[in-house]
Amino acid sequence: MERAKVRLFVEDPLGSGQRVNLTRDAAHYLFGVMRLKEGDAASLFNGEDGEWRARIVEAGKRGGALSCEAQTAPQSNPPDLWLCFAPIKKARTDFIVEKAAEMGACRIIPVQTEFTNAERIRRDRLQAHAVEAAEQCGGTFVPEVSELQKLGDLLNAWPAERQIMFCDETLAEAGSALPDAGGPWAVLIGPEGGFSERERDRLSKAPFTHAVSLGPRILRADTAAVAALTIWQQQMGDWE
Ligand code: SAH
Repeated sequence: MERAKVRLFVEDPLGSGQRVNLTRDAAHYLFGVMRLKEGDAASLFNGEDGEWRARIVEAGKRGGALSCEAQTAPQSNPPDLWLCFAPIKKARTDFIVEKAAEMGACRIIPVQTEFTNAERIRRDRLQAHAVEAAEQCGGTFVPEVSELQKLGDLLNAWPAERQIMFCDETLAEAGSALPDAGGPWAVLIGPEGGFSERERDRLSKAPFTHAVSLGPRILRADTAAVAALTIWQQQMGDWE
């Protein structure tokens, strides 16, 4: 089967014969950057209806349209794993969101801890990074990036059935084995300054928290996020 060289996330429903109108940005990308023309194919996904091969039926400078032909992959959602992390410098935060989407996190929650420097995030920019990562890695799912939340507020409203893999850099000896608890999970990564005593205390008292070590070296938060997601996916996720 002809393989489309462009994968594009769209907000429209996808189905046989469905017409999808392009936004200005998407039209610029398809026709200006990737040089596709009327009659060429592209792959579309919307996070719900799987992946579809679609034919370009209109190509303009400021817009265009495609028509869906056939489903090329079913919808495939990652396991119910959240990544909660304290945002760091802009480029490293972008990296964390991109990697979390590639690694199969289903929700990404920036959290403000006591030692977090960032006070604001650009949620829309981070969401766009998640979309781009999904387009690139062949996934049909895009994790939702939440607004920045205070760690305390997040824990106050925490759903008790969701386990937390709490990555604690002070636990060099503890190992990274996770209890064999199915169901929903979250990975929690601290900021450059680490967690405060108070936060560590609160986390260690919560029944749904499992403190783990990521080895004898202190990792930067972006490395730690990828390492933790790897360990979780390998022990409990969809890697088998
Ligand atoms: N400032 C801290 C390091 C923070 S590293 C210090 O020097 O002690 C940023 C985050 O990455 C940590 O809060 C933790 O969540 C995670 N992390 C880094 N290395 C880790 C390790 N070896 N084990 C567990 N978590 C780690």
